[in-house]
Amino acid sequence: MIYQIKTEKLPQLLERLAAAQELCLPVEHKGQVDFASWTPKAKVRLDVCNTARSAKDFFFPQGERLVSFRMEGRQIQVEAPQMEENPFVIFGARPCDVRSFQLLDRVFLSDPVDRYYENRRRRATIVTAACLEPEETCFCGNFGIDPVRPQLGDVVIWTAGDTLYWESLTEKGEALTAQGGELLEALSEEPEALTQAQDGARAIHERLPFGHLNLQAISSRDWREVFEDPIWEKLSKSCLGCGSCTYVCPTCQCYDIRDFDTGHGVERYRCWDSCMYSSFTQMAHGNPRTTQKERFRQRFMHKLVYFPQNEEGLFSCVGCGRCLNKCPVSTHMVKVIQELGGKQDV
Ligand code: SF4
Ligand code: SF4
Repeated sequence: MIYQIKTEKLPQLLERLAAAQELCLPVEHKGQVDFASWTPKAKVRLDVCNTARSAKDFFFPQGERLVSFRMEGRQIQVEAPQMEENPFVIFGARPCDVRSFQLLDRVFLSDPVDRYYENRRRRATIVTAACLEPEETCFCGNFGIDPVRPQLGDVVIWTAGDTLYWESLTEKGEALTAQGGELLEALSEEPEALTQAQDGARAIHERLPFGHLNLQAISSRDWREVFEDPIWEKLSKSCLGCGSCTYVCPTCQCYDIRDFDTGHGVERYRCWDSCMYSSFTQMAHGNPRTTQKERFRQRFMHKLVYFPQNEEGLFSCVGCGRCLNKCPVSTHMVKVIQELGGKQDV
């Protein structure tokens, strides 16, 4: 069922939801929009297409303590951190980011299950904001994502004119809808204004500059041939190895685990790592990827070849466009796809 609320009443709805559980949504702070907890003074920016950082931080934070070891005489006490139990809502994540959760699930929820990740996934309710006004760098449609009518998350919302439309997809979504109470007005049928807004948005998505890449051109090639393609030498020459692309990417999931001596024990932390760094996968006997070409190739081979090989054809990119905006030398996913033969079909 579709519900509606005038956007002028949205602050009331957000306040009500935030009273029931933590509510996180895109908020502008010092000129940058990122997910943050709602407060009455928060500058909410549901109109912004991509937050600077992706929404993966909710489930896979940049750094976290995994366990502590404390010395008591000759005994070692092992202390696991307290698992949170409070539910929370991610309000206004874009379809590409919500799809990235499904890709991360395949990594963190497969055997052995990552209990830290699983705990956060279980506690979250996701409100997906359909993209009626995409950015020129968006190319999610290439990966089977419907940005206009996404079937992703627990609730889908559309903002058209002075109205926000709301549709619940799951039991969690129904529970959140119930919290909205009389603020959410139930509609007997889909309103014409919403259909028109969706049709208009589809026409915009159709015309996006990278909306029709030919991924089949990569999938159909033998992986060894892709591995040996001269484009890796050519494109990696400009790569600075800064890792920006991996830090903003919603599907990158490499991490490092380090122990820190606190003087009376050890704290074990996990933090994001980047396959673009020269120290990545450094081992006692050395490093298996000693050149930037090898590191650069690994990142893109993983997303475009290895992940699909292992995960029923799913690419490990959701077309969010963040790496297009952030790479200081414009050596990004679209450029790699195009160079590998996947240039625009139309
Ligand atoms: S590779 Fe680039 S476009 Fe693809 S999901 Fe990562 S940041 Fe987004
Ligand atoms: S952001 Fe660009 S320059 Fe930096 S590591 Fe990624 S591809 Fe290389």
